[in-house]
Amino acid sequence: PKKLIEESGTGSQINKVIGVVSGKGGVGKSLVTPLLAASIREKGHSVAVLDADITGPSIPKMFGLSQKDKTNKNRIFPVESGHGIKIMSVNLLLDHETDPVIWRGPLIAGTVKQFWKDVYWGNVDYMFVDMPPGTGDVPLTVFQSLPVDGIIVVTSPQDLVEMIVGKAVKMAGMMHIPVIGIVQNMAYYECPTCHDKHYLFGKNDIDTLAEEYHIEMTAKIPIDPSLAKACDEGRIEDYETDCLDNLIEKF
Ligand code: ADP
Repeated sequence: PKKLIEESGTGSQINKVIGVVSGKGGVGKSLVTPLLAASIREKGHSVAVLDADITGPSIPKMFGLSQKDKTNKNRIFPVESGHGIKIMSVNLLLDHETDPVIWRGPLIAGTVKQFWKDVYWGNVDYMFVDMPPGTGDVPLTVFQSLPVDGIIVVTSPQDLVEMIVGKAVKMAGMMHIPVIGIVQNMAYYECPTCHDKHYLFGKNDIDTLAEEYHIEMTAKIPIDPSLAKACDEGRIEDYETDCLDNLIEKF
């Protein structure tokens, strides 16, 4: 493994850290992160998800997790999903999952750093970090508190895609982190009877954009009611899809 979390004292070894970012909230970032994690887990790798979207944590819900691990008061262990993905989120530590987290940037970044350092992750091949949305102060501070190896940018067709990708690429560039790929969520709707693809929001070409920014990989996720249902029911791991396969092959 390339990296050792030496300062942590937990002895965890995380091989690769991938940040998942978006230009704003609501584009499906918290859906793409678990989908990526589940797709890689299915290939037999050990996988973790660190929910760094501290003020809007939705990762545990996607996996149907609400309980916290209370096995040892002095140590923080991640909670394991049904398929064995290790997860840590502020929502697994709150007394009530509806408790709001009203914290300023430095406290948020401090919590993320503590998740990285003090959680007993064990050996992990791929850790996905669900970043706070946007390219402002909070995501930047969070970025700087973690050794991120690469980022995935999530967009939706309603986004000002070009501007958002541009901002994300520049932010990543300032920190010398490569952009691995762009995922366009809600890219199209496939008719269940005729299997035609309908581009409800217009067909903006993320492939050309990716080429422009020298980003190697793109993926498109359709609007799919059964995906929304899987999220709502906390069964995102059971959703079968190959739409991210070309992306994860490059990890
Ligand atoms: P973000 O994290 O960017 O704020 P979420 O990942 O929470 O956005 O997505 C919001 C909700 O939108 C999801 O819980 C899901 O119900 C719905 N959704 C997102 N993408 C899709 C999709 N491709 N197909 C169906 N529903 C989707």
